[in-house]
Amino acid sequence: MSTARENLKTARRIVIKVGTSTLAHADTGKLNLYRIEHLIREIADLHNAGKEIIFVSSGAIAAGMNKLGIKVKPQTIPENQALAAIGQGVLMHIYEKFFAEYGQTMGQVLLTKENAVDEHARTNSRNALCSILNMGAIPVINENDAVGVDEIRIGDNDNLSAMVAAMMNAEVLIILSDIDGLYNGNPKVDKSARLLDEVAAIDSEVERMAGGAGTKLGTGGMFTKIQAAKLATSNGVTMLIINGATVGNLRRALSGENVGTVFPRKEACL
Ligand code: GLU
Repeated sequence: MSTARENLKTARRIVIKVGTSTLAHADTGKLNLYRIEHLIREIADLHNAGKEIIFVSSGAIAAGMNKLGIKVKPQTIPENQALAAIGQGVLMHIYEKFFAEYGQTMGQVLLTKENAVDEHARTNSRNALCSILNMGAIPVINENDAVGVDEIRIGDNDNLSAMVAAMMNAEVLIILSDIDGLYNGNPKVDKSARLLDEVAAIDSEVERMAGGAGTKLGTGGMFTKIQAAKLATSNGVTMLIINGATVGNLRRALSGENVGTVFPRKEACL
């Protein structure tokens, strides 16, 4: 087994990021409760097994659209801010309910770029997250989209989750995607495209493979996941992309099975 896969097995502090395209049905945009419930159960069980889990979740804007019966994402920033404010509560209500069913307590933390970059704010964010973990609870993080505009905005939760993983000295960041991992071509159009098991170095060839676009619901697609991989691995975090639609994938990946694409952490320079 590769060292990176071994790191997944032994990791204690793990950041798990889920995107909107995993949380919502592609056809209707409505929340996929079956998937959400299974995901929360898996996270609760990892917590029971002694792991420290930090959960980064998108889906606020989609949940807000659902709540108000809006089918097409509005174009203006204030409307999206409002939808994020409405949807964040809806989403936390669902998470809180499922976590409680499995005996877990969660704490919501909303961040902006400032919280991860400004040294003072970063220390405060880190202290809050450490305290939540020390209290035995699960931090549930999103970007503070209701107020996070312009230069304080990160814009996508792949990069946000990598910032969190670096800030919290996590051993592993797992990004749940709507695809099995990184392919060496576009599997939707190229039948010979192959899933990569491990990406040792992120070069221009890897960036080309990641392409550009995201899905109808998600923000980043593979491109922001590769940005996240660069940030995470250079901060000593092993990153993994797996399919969030496959129930049990998280547990399998963390027991060392060959699922998804792993990006080995870079050793810290001495
Ligand atoms: N923070 C956004 C939301 O909750 C999602 C950003 C992303 O998709 O990466 O809707």
